[in-house]
Amino acid sequence: MTRVIFLGPPGAGKGTQAQILCESANVPHISTGDILRAAVKEKSALGQKAEGYMSAGELVPDELILGLIRERLEKKDAASGWLLDGFPRNVEQAEFLNELLEEIGQTCEFVINLEVPDEELVSRLLARGRSDDKEAVIRNRLEVYREQTEPLIDLYNGKEKLVSVDGNQDMALVSEELKGIIQGKKS
Ligand code: AMP
Repeated sequence: MTRVIFLGPPGAGKGTQAQILCESANVPHISTGDILRAAVKEKSALGQKAEGYMSAGELVPDELILGLIRERLEKKDAASGWLLDGFPRNVEQAEFLNELLEEIGQTCEFVINLEVPDEELVSRLLARGRSDDKEAVIRNRLEVYREQTEPLIDLYNGKEKLVSVDGNQDMALVSEELKGIIQGKKS
């Protein structure tokens, strides 16, 4: 059983690494950012509500996210494991997730914190060129991360298996380290 929460600032490589890990562990990659971007593209009600927050680099309100996570984790393919990428993003979301997992009788085995220095994050994000990758928006996303998401590291530290991984190294090395953690070679 593999159930993993991926923490780490924007640009740390969570999406790329999550995809590689999910393929090797054969579990769904649940990215709230991907779900929201698809909704924006479809111009669904969710997408229309979320778009302004996303393009400003702000978090989308919890009420748009929590129901979506519940539905996704209750799907059949998530019964035997999952990797959460981009959720939880604040303390309220983390508390919601704890309660939800208790309710559905699941536990998260690892919380992985992918660490990359700020200067490296900004240059990576500028190079990526997604629509929310303009410099001012990037700076705001980093600030939002520090203020709202980073406190989760302390919250999970001790309570669950928090593992920090150096994301500022060759991508293949990061993948190997992550696979090692999930396979229980290192904790
Ligand atoms: P990401 O792809 O994870 O960097 O997310 C891109 C954007 O989607 C973020 O800057 C937020 O605006 C929004 N977003 C993604 N996940 C969440 C979440 N769990 N809670 C609130 N907003 C989110």
